[in-house]
Amino acid sequence: MMIILSRIHPLLLAAMLAWLAAAGVGCEEMSLSWGLHERSVAPKRPVDRPITVNQLARRLDLTVIQPGPDIVRLQNRANTVTIFADPYGSAYVNGDRVPSGGRIELAGPSLMVPATLVDNIRNAMHTEAPPPRPTPKPDPLSGRRWLGTVVLDAGHGGKDPGAMGAGGDREADIVLGVTREAATMLQHRGIKVLLTRDDDTFVELDDRVSFAGRHRPDLFVSIHVDAAGNTQARGYTVYVPRRAAEDSPSEQAGERIARGLERVVAVSRGVRRHAKNLRVLEKTSVPAVLVELGFITNAGECRLLLRREYQARLAGALVGGIEAWLKQR
Ligand SMILES: [Zn+2]
Repeated sequence: MMIILSRIHPLLLAAMLAWLAAAGVGCEEMSLSWGLHERSVAPKRPVDRPITVNQLARRLDLTVIQPGPDIVRLQNRANTVTIFADPYGSAYVNGDRVPSGGRIELAGPSLMVPATLVDNIRNAMHTEAPPPRPTPKPDPLSGRRWLGTVVLDAGHGGKDPGAMGAGGDREADIVLGVTREAATMLQHRGIKVLLTRDDDTFVELDDRVSFAGRHRPDLFVSIHVDAAGNTQARGYTVYVPRRAAEDSPSEQAGERIARGLERVVAVSRGVRRHAKNLRVLEKTSVPAVLVELGFITNAGECRLLLRREYQARLAGALVGGIEAWLKQR
């Protein structure tokens, strides 16, 4: 039966079935009249007694949202079922027609449907809820109130690869990966974010500083990866400007970011003031922090730093610290 039916065009088959139903020819007669071998005929089913739409809804765990009389709509989290009163039976699951198995008609106040419709609908329903919609990105022009504005400064780029790992891995690429992840997360948390670079281009240190000066963010965060002759050195460091007072915004933001990073990075080198003059920190007039996320010269830490999941975890740690600081101010 299946072999023969599958060779018939679906539209032609639908027309034939409609004609046969109108002519009062049952399924069994139809099969036999096509001369199929006895064994291929499905065993005779018990008579299909009609049930009410409410019974159908209970069996399928659906809620009736439009009770009729001529059109009934039922729903669960993942599906919408529509049933029309119609002598040929019309039932749709999520817009796709399903075989009704017989007449669908009003009997007094209730719409009656064939009991086989329960299985036909069940077979067509989605078993899982549709995937959640992605969180829309806040539109900077929509007048939304931001929690704050942050400039993320991915170190190096272009002709300046930054520190290099033993395998030729570039600091510039790692920090760009972390920066992009962090930028997306900040936006989703209602924090306006501006980037000094969002691709592999070279940006002068002074241009990074003047970028921050033009946009006057609440915080400037420069993102780097460390290097040392000692290949055992590992862990993150958070630098604040040398001029920053003990309780200054830079110091407080640095402490918050360090608290985030210590949940992800095994070794903490704490919040420090650099022995040398780090230009982006010292010349920036807004609160500023420079993070070294780990050592590219440490083989184990370098392997971690190259992994997308680890970069995302580092980004999450940075964002958690930034958000906590913006909220505590
Ligand atoms: Zn660097």
